[in-house]
Amino acid sequence: MNLILFGPPAAGKGTQAKRLTAERGYVQLSTGDMLRAARKSGSDLGVKVAAIMDSGSLVSDEIVIALIEEALASNASAAGFIFDGFPRTVAQAEALDAMLAKHGKQIDCVVKLEVDSQKLMDRIAKRFAEEGRADDNPEAYKVRLDAYIAQTAPLVPYYEKQNKMHRVDGMSDVESVARAIASAIDAR
Ligand code: AMP
Repeated sequence: MNLILFGPPAAGKGTQAKRLTAERGYVQLSTGDMLRAARKSGSDLGVKVAAIMDSGSLVSDEIVIALIEEALASNASAAGFIFDGFPRTVAQAEALDAMLAKHGKQIDCVVKLEVDSQKLMDRIAKRFAEEGRADDNPEAYKVRLDAYIAQTAPLVPYYEKQNKMHRVDGMSDVESVARAIASAIDAR
């Protein structure tokens, strides 16, 4: 089972991906986490993406596609993958389909977590206060949300055409959202 957790920043993708990893043994591939790890390590890549990430804009397709390609190759025997925060553009989605096909795999299910914008703002304000992530400040968050609307939302019809898109109400508590995601996966 290869699953994409889809939705705007702060929709709860990371939280739900971690649950699925623990419960089903899937491997979580979060390009945001990979990029943050690169920054922490002080690598050339980390230095290159720092300002772009802090502004809330997307880093280049080339960079994130290379990260995913590497992760797929080094986890070839995984029971399944949960893509969290990737793909975020149509070019990334096309590259992902091609990379998975090379490994004899495909995306089986896309779960879109739907959360209204007021709730997203409340969650981000709380996370900014608790964790202090630079890209959670209100200005950068607006850029991230705009990037989602302009560059990432077009993936909805992309996966609808493939008959893979499931919508889940992301407004309720973590347990209820997890149950709804589990039924979407098990219905495949
Ligand atoms: P996230 O934690 O997924 O919200 O990612 C944090 C930041 O990393 C994003 O605002 C982007 O700057 C960058 N990023 C993460 N994933 C991607 C992606 N798939 N495409 C482009 N940029 C990404």
